[in-house]
Amino acid sequence: MSGSLSRVELPTTPPFVLRGRLLTPLGDGGTRHERDALVEVDAAGSITYAGPAGERPDLAESAIDLRPWVLMPGMVDLHGHLPQLPNAGLGAGMDLLAWLERYIFPLELDFDAPVAERVAPAAWRAFAAAGTTTALVYGAVYEASLDVMFRAAEVHGIRAIVGKVMMDRNTYDLTIEPSTILDRSLAESARLIERWHGFDDGRLQYAVTPRFAISCTAELLRESAALAASTGAYWQTHVSEDLGEIAEVARLFPEAIDYVDVYDRAGGLGERTVLAHAVHLSDRELDRLVESRTRVAHCPISNLFLASGVMPLGRYLDAGLSLGLGSDVAGGPDLSIFSVMRVGFYAQNARRVAGLETGRVLSPLEWLRLGSLGGASALGLDDVTGSLEAGKEADVIAIDPSYLAPIQGMPADDYPEDLASRLIFRAHPDMVRSAWVRGRRLEGPGARN
Ligand SMILES: [Zn+2]
Repeated sequence: MSGSLSRVELPTTPPFVLRGRLLTPLGDGGTRHERDALVEVDAAGSITYAGPAGERPDLAESAIDLRPWVLMPGMVDLHGHLPQLPNAGLGAGMDLLAWLERYIFPLELDFDAPVAERVAPAAWRAFAAAGTTTALVYGAVYEASLDVMFRAAEVHGIRAIVGKVMMDRNTYDLTIEPSTILDRSLAESARLIERWHGFDDGRLQYAVTPRFAISCTAELLRESAALAASTGAYWQTHVSEDLGEIAEVARLFPEAIDYVDVYDRAGGLGERTVLAHAVHLSDRELDRLVESRTRVAHCPISNLFLASGVMPLGRYLDAGLSLGLGSDVAGGPDLSIFSVMRVGFYAQNARRVAGLETGRVLSPLEWLRLGSLGGASALGLDDVTGSLEAGKEADVIAIDPSYLAPIQGMPADDYPEDLASRLIFRAHPDMVRSAWVRGRRLEGPGARN
């Protein structure tokens, strides 16, 4: 299906110039669409030009011609669990807490360094194959397996923010004496920050990662937030995913006003914090997240797979909440952020049909923005990645639009709105033909065919 272009030599390291169709959100708002564009990447892996080919005939000569492929920013996955990827797609029909016991904790329990050696490199390739160039993910509880994940990301080239899961109750690692878990987990996290946070000029970063309130004492939440604050690492956890979980959190933390308040009391809110899900927020919780500039990872596939609920996205965006999209593998069976957009779109339509939503409808171009620049902004990385604009690092994906066509031989869609709609509603697992981070080509895309 990829036609004659399958024989084009794709550049593996910068500098280079790509020629193709350009579709990217812009930092100042709106979208840039050029039918014939050049993207110039300098030796350091930064974009020095992204615009019409006609304006830079000097560059066109040396350009690698990928037309009719589409050049876009790599997607940003704001939430996933790398050790869970092997079980993606299993457990449909279960609720969150039962599914964790049956399908997830056993997998994470086994995720020691040797297993990580086998899984992590393949997982990073799978992220890239899906078009994701930046990923914020959870590991398991073992320090050594986190080192393996980071080393695999270092070698692969993806932009990754990773954290060791912290749990000092309801944990799966029963070999650790309970009274020592807190100190040990903090010490291990601190060592991992020391080794990896900011590695390779910031391509790899650390996220302090208490699993969620049910698995953590108030002390662990507080100490972990303090560790993140004192080191500049991110802090990530889950919030308000499922009604059963919310009831259990209320039982465990009777002093808290609500779920968000559990993290607020721990000092966990702020612009370096990413909370996954936030499906069932009260007005008070929403206001508090907006006020504290806390970021949210919207994971609509996972939320429907586990029947957790459907986030009132329009209400959150109108309130000014900063959010991006997350696959939440393996709660979400699909790594593709394009698939996340499609299910998110359908889910919002379902709210509308059910009379639950009357706010604005996001267009396909707005969903593409959420999945790229929205996620980058949530991470405070919007000056680095998330769009193809001069001055940013070259985190680029190339998509073969022939994979999107409903029948063979159709002409390409002319308008950016139509192209965006096809990318979301006809996303194909093999459509991403290449991905680069800082101009360095990632393994993964095109590996299957
Ligand atoms: Zn999750």
